[in-house]
Amino acid sequence: MKNESRLYHKFRPAPYYGGIATADAVGCSFLCAYCWNYFRNENPAAQGRFQEPRDVAWHLLDIAQRKNFRRFRVTGSEPILGEASLGHVVQVIRMISDERPDSLFILETNGLMLGHRREFVQALKFPNLAIRVCLKGTDPESFARVTGSRADFFEVPLAGLRALQEADIEAWPALMEDLFSSEQVRSFQALLAKQGVRGDLELESLEPYPYVIKNLQQRNIQLVVP
Ligand code: SF4
Repeated sequence: MKNESRLYHKFRPAPYYGGIATADAVGCSFLCAYCWNYFRNENPAAQGRFQEPRDVAWHLLDIAQRKNFRRFRVTGSEPILGEASLGHVVQVIRMISDERPDSLFILETNGLMLGHRREFVQALKFPNLAIRVCLKGTDPESFARVTGSRADFFEVPLAGLRALQEADIEAWPALMEDLFSSEQVRSFQALLAKQGVRGDLELESLEPYPYVIKNLQQRNIQLVVP
């Protein structure tokens, strides 16, 4: 962040969610072994250009208009790193929501800061915002290996997801299926249910880029072959 501006490296139409105007930002509180934006997030200061919220909204609205999309997102990074980046993304969502009341903004987050600063969720109350909380491990040990973060932070994103749901914000959990056995997934679903998390666990698939495979090997993470 620089004042209200955040680093972005690309704006593009993407085929996911049936067609979505996409902004690729850089910078994350984790460095996941499978991150498709790994190298940019490893060294964010060397990437992209700082963009003010109105510029981000303008780029996304322009793409949506040209492609006849009604969905919007920011991806490739963690949108909420602290107060400044929260304020930035909230402004982007508000501008798009004002301009396109028919839109749906899908916010993809790792949930860490929402669990650490639960009051942040109050800024995310928009009727056309849906939040996908990408959980990284099924237990503290796998969480630490995947994210490169401390194992004792495992519970923090779960607290963030619960805080969103307790505030009646549409939010659901997601997990990278390829790294976990069906037994691990089942016991994680049971843990989520025990913690009162609502909604199905969305299972994502990994993109096996060569550097992703290398990162997984270096962190001693096995791909689970179905
Ligand atoms: S949380 Fe997402 S953006 Fe951040 S390093 Fe992990 S996969 Fe990449």
